[in-house]
Amino acid sequence: MSVRLIVDADGCIGSGECVAEDPQAIEIDDSGCARVLIGAMDEARAQHLCDVCPVGALTIEH
Ligand code: SF4
Repeated sequence: MSVRLIVDADGCIGSGECVAEDPQAIEIDDSGCARVLIGAMDEARAQHLCDVCPVGALTIEH
């Protein structure tokens, strides 16, 4: 199932674990906040990114 990955811009601390895990799906923008690069992704891929974020700044939208 395809889902959208959402970044909480206030919660993201720019630590980069998400980018290290899946640089094709997410990057750090000029303001130091994560930005999702693809509109829809497999739920398991999105969940993995949520799991690696140390501050819970990523969530899944079904
Ligand atoms: S792992 Fe979380 S806090 Fe770190 S850059 Fe990614 S979304 Fe932001």
